[in-house]
Amino acid sequence: MGQQLYNIAGRFDLRGTIAEIKPLGDGFINDTFVIKTSEAEAPDYILQRKNHVVFPDVPAMMENIQKVTTHIKTKVANPERETLTVIPTTDGALYHKDAEGNFWAVCTFIPNTITYDRADSTALAYQGGKGIGRFQAQLADFNEPLAEVIKGFHNMRFRFEQWDAAVKADKAGRVASLTEEIGWIESRREEMLGFWALVENGTIPMRVTHNDTKISNILFDADTKDVLCAIDLDTVMSSTSLNDVGDALRSYTNTGAEDDPELENVSMSIDMFRAYIEGYLSERAATLSESEWEWLAFSGRFITFEQVLRFLMDYIDGDTYYKIKYPDHNLVRTRAQYRLLESMEAQYDQMKAIVAGLKENI
Ligand code: ATP
Ligand code: MG
Repeated sequence: MGQQLYNIAGRFDLRGTIAEIKPLGDGFINDTFVIKTSEAEAPDYILQRKNHVVFPDVPAMMENIQKVTTHIKTKVANPERETLTVIPTTDGALYHKDAEGNFWAVCTFIPNTITYDRADSTALAYQGGKGIGRFQAQLADFNEPLAEVIKGFHNMRFRFEQWDAAVKADKAGRVASLTEEIGWIESRREEMLGFWALVENGTIPMRVTHNDTKISNILFDADTKDVLCAIDLDTVMSSTSLNDVGDALRSYTNTGAEDDPELENVSMSIDMFRAYIEGYLSERAATLSESEWEWLAFSGRFITFEQVLRFLMDYIDGDTYYKIKYPDHNLVRTRAQYRLLESMEAQYDQMKAIVAGLKENI
């Protein structure tokens, strides 16, 4: 791997000479390396092998990243530091494809920054909301087309098509034993498709969405400890920006684990909800449409519902999509996410009141 990495790095239009290439962390999706250069004036770089199983069209993904970061650079005081900078190859391509068919990409390493692994306080939930809110605000006037790098992502109509096919096929012979759980999905079908219809008919506008809103994808300035920018832009696409909020709420606000077998552990923390939304609105309030305001609190219910559906659908399919650690893992996940959904439904009036209160104070 050592020499091969140097050869790959050499394909890119780097400044300075490479002193060292070393692995960074243990990302779920990509293999990430830091390229250190010898000269003080030359930047260091991030080299990534992009996972082309998850991302079947890496060239389109890199085009998306290039368009979005180019736009953000026109909006910020320090374009080198306040978004990613993609480094092309010496041939001017945004990626390098190696002899084995792997795709590689490089961006500038942004120095003097920190990331957090877990958002386990309201202060970090606020920062996480601020990071995604800022990203969306910088792109609120972006109107170029973006490639759909993951087909049907958060598209409820597409999900229900998959769902209907899965229930009908009953591949693992489990449908008969899942009457109650299937009822959880069916009783909300109309409501969820009703929301999605507003996205389809343009009532809720299409925006640039980040689609991987976890706190480790927000870079912070090491000195000021303030949000610097959103990174890990592989999943950037066009959709309703409410999907980013909903997905963040699903993970940030859960008092238990996504696959918690102890359902009493699972609930939505209203304090984490408030903190995330406050952070988000601190950057995004000025660019939100009326329809986005109206559906903001609902977004958490929408994405959590989708996750219940997806876990249950995978269980019905015989566990082919999500990796499982034990036989009924997908069913345990289904029940835990359903408990979270119920908790959000029970607190929905409060969630809406928080949003309304914040709207009045801007
Ligand atoms: P994961 O699957 O865990 O999200 P990933 O494989 O998608 O990881 P990234 O999120 O792009 O990889 O990067 C992993 C980590 O590397 C980030 O959380 C951050 O700490 C660091 N990092 C990535 N890009 C940069 C950059 N341009 N400057 C400084 N640090 C960076
Ligand atoms: Mg990441």
